[in-house]
Amino acid sequence: MTKKILVPIDISETELTQRVIAQVEAQARLDDAEVHFLTVLPLYPYYATLGARYVADLPVMDDLETDAMKKLDEIVKQFSLPEDRVYKHFAEGAPKDKILELAKTIPADLVIISSHRPDFTTYLLGSTAAAVVRHAECSVLVIR
Ligand code: ADP
Repeated sequence: MTKKILVPIDISETELTQRVIAQVEAQARLDDAEVHFLTVLPLYPYYATLGARYVADLPVMDDLETDAMKKLDEIVKQFSLPEDRVYKHFAEGAPKDKILELAKTIPADLVIISSHRPDFTTYLLGSTAAAVVRHAECSVLVIR
């Protein structure tokens, strides 16, 4: 069975650490693994709380998804991985829930995640990373 690695990417993070890139490349090479990138847009639940009227405006979501995927494409280009081993996913909702959900459905053998945003130095482990470490059924590699 081909090994599968899930790499959640926050597209609002301007700077992806070289460390994440190097670790993903190394782990992927080790097992000739598939690498699944996922970006989650946390916007939808916010719109939903505003009421059905706003949900009716959902075509906007298509544009947001297209933009998000474009940004994800740009980020993924920085990784040197075999093209036929790369998959890109988009979801809307709570990032931690969507990451855990996709980890289960792929199913992933390993999740590689940054501990927190580079500029958030007060936290050693961000809330998304913490939830993934705590609830994922597979191994999780936290990059600091
Ligand atoms: P912080 O609170 O410092 O932002 P997080 O735990 O939210 O820390 O982020 C750590 C990592 O979690 C990110 O580098 C990314 O890998 C993942 N992550 C966070 N938000 C998202 C998102 N919206 N979509 C995909 N991955 C995310």
